[in-house]
Amino acid sequence: MGNRLPLIAGNWKMYKTGDEAVQSARRLKELAADAAGVEIMIAPTFTALAQVAAAIQSSNIALGAQNLHWETQGAFTGEISAPMLVNAGCRYVIIGHSERRQYFGETDQSVQRKIRAAVNAGLRPVMCIGETETEREAGKTFSVLDKQIQKGLEGFVFQDLKSLVLAYEPVWAIGTGKTATKEQAQEAHAYIRRQLAAIVDDGFARQVRILYGGSVKPSNVKELMAMPDVDGALVGGASLDPETFSQLVHYQG
Ligand code: PEP
Repeated sequence: MGNRLPLIAGNWKMYKTGDEAVQSARRLKELAADAAGVEIMIAPTFTALAQVAAAIQSSNIALGAQNLHWETQGAFTGEISAPMLVNAGCRYVIIGHSERRQYFGETDQSVQRKIRAAVNAGLRPVMCIGETETEREAGKTFSVLDKQIQKGLEGFVFQDLKSLVLAYEPVWAIGTGKTATKEQAQEAHAYIRRQLAAIVDDGFARQVRILYGGSVKPSNVKELMAMPDVDGALVGGASLDPETFSQLVHYQG
């Protein structure tokens, strides 16, 4: 078992204007100030990043973005690059979220390019993987995870991936209120860790943090976090309200 610092991350999706995001971030900063033994990250929408960075300065909360483009700059209207995110104050970036895969044509190959861009800029990628309900019912969960990991991390070596975080997010559990059972989460996380040991390196697999995502809330966070291969949570809905999110970052009691 590695010595992995738990990470509780909030994905604010396309919610909150800049002003609303700052208000939530300020409240969270107060509420989470005493949270120990846990790392906290929030990922507001692009337009709120710089404002939120200022609001959480000198706090125990890190800033993340929800996506990026793989080029550093260029004629890519509407896109945002890794150096731009760094300049806005980001330390993390979520890559390959299932909503991006489902609605915006994200592929394992674009995920791979985006991870490379993040690593090159010194951003910590949070790579999302997970199966749909149909895939789970067809017994394809592990083969789907395999493909996403192998293609998404193709060409990387341990040295590149030191700051990588994985997020196992079964698509059927995102925003649906259905949570994977703690046993289902543990089974998938243990499988992912074994695959990472096989395709990257044993040491890497022991130290990499694997977050669970999918309807995490105050009532289930403790039992999920108690599983040996669950190193944190990527939280959508329950991260929007600072009071609720604060309960999640205080899951240790
Ligand atoms: C997510 O968006 O990554 C997520 C897990 O959402 P929710 O917590 O709302 O299911």
